[in-house]
Amino acid sequence: MSEYLMQTYARQPVAFVRGEGVWLFDLDGEKYLDALAGVAVNGLGHAHPRLAEAICTQAGRLIHTSNIYRIVEQEELAARLCQLSGLSRAFFCNSGAEANEAAIKIARLHAHHKGIENPSIVVMEKSFHGRTMATLSATGNRKVQAGFEPLVSGFVRVPFGSSEAVEALAAHHKNIVAVLVEPYQGEGGVQIPQSDYLVELRRICDEQNWLLMLDEVQTGVGRTGTWFAFQHANVMPDVMTLAKGLGSGVPIGACLAKGVAAETFTPGKHGSTFGGGPLACTAALTTLEVMESEGLLNHASTLGAFIRADLAHRLQGLAGVIEIRGQGLMIGIELDRPCGDLVKMALAEKLLINVTNDNVVRLLPPLVMKQTEASLLTEKLAGLIHKFLG
Ligand SMILES: *Cc1c(COP(=O)(O)O)cnc(C)c1O
Repeated sequence: MSEYLMQTYARQPVAFVRGEGVWLFDLDGEKYLDALAGVAVNGLGHAHPRLAEAICTQAGRLIHTSNIYRIVEQEELAARLCQLSGLSRAFFCNSGAEANEAAIKIARLHAHHKGIENPSIVVMEKSFHGRTMATLSATGNRKVQAGFEPLVSGFVRVPFGSSEAVEALAAHHKNIVAVLVEPYQGEGGVQIPQSDYLVELRRICDEQNWLLMLDEVQTGVGRTGTWFAFQHANVMPDVMTLAKGLGSGVPIGACLAKGVAAETFTPGKHGSTFGGGPLACTAALTTLEVMESEGLLNHASTLGAFIRADLAHRLQGLAGVIEIRGQGLMIGIELDRPCGDLVKMALAEKLLINVTNDNVVRLLPPLVMKQTEASLLTEKLAGLIHKFLG
């Protein structure tokens, strides 16, 4: 633990020096099974040869120029993401929080164009949108906000999963311009709403002339078994944000939009020194290529279903397990008690997992995880949960 670091994280006492697929190796050469993937970042696992080669080649050619000039890799990535999502323009930045900042700025600018002086954005309880001032204000978790007041105003909050609660706002709030929501909540405890939730939100947004803005920072880029989680429902957002899995660990965020939302930013309204640079865009383009050529979307669906079913089988009848849920390789196991200690117990057995919302074990394995590795994961984890609850 370094005395020279600001104490922003309660870190686990381990440092990794090397990785290969779903495996990480620490300073002593000990081998760990990674079921977290850097919190939904390392979709291709660690040290994927095609990604490593693409990054090396690009670094030897060009790392950075500036958005003052055209960037061909950025243009290519924008086109690819638009093709995959059905959205029509992209803005690139360096993180999830920044991608959401762009979305929030688009919503506000769009509101002002419509003559709404004091716009509001609907956000959800238990949501997570980032750590910048605007995104922590949008976040539905007091722990994230406490001590940073005054918060950024202009957000109205309703329970996640209730389209009725969103609809009820329309009668009283005349300044609403957008709804910002995660299709499945990640930090909030892997919350999966009813299957018609996004459809209902889309209908309300259409009726009220609001923008539907999806935070797919965690759910996007194959994590749930489709390129983007909204593709499980038959809806199109107006705005979508991406980050985590997009660059496989090379920092990159994106805000995509269509229709009027895609035309809102004009020169001078937003920008980023690093955003959409040649290196990060190459990493993202390669990530998308590998995901397609290795069939990782279908694989994430199948493997996720296997992991959930196998865990359900292994934990069957065990008092203290409330629910096993998820979509693709975004999986939550809700227990009836706080279970932060499970992270330490798992680490001692060389397994990397995470606990979120106090009592939800969260798995976000690399999308390249093999069936045999998944079996190892479920066996180890079920054993740990038995031990923890027993
Ligand atoms: C992680 C996350 C963010 C924040 O991303 P950063 O890159 O840490 O800024 C925003 N929204 C969701 C849904 C996330 O999971």
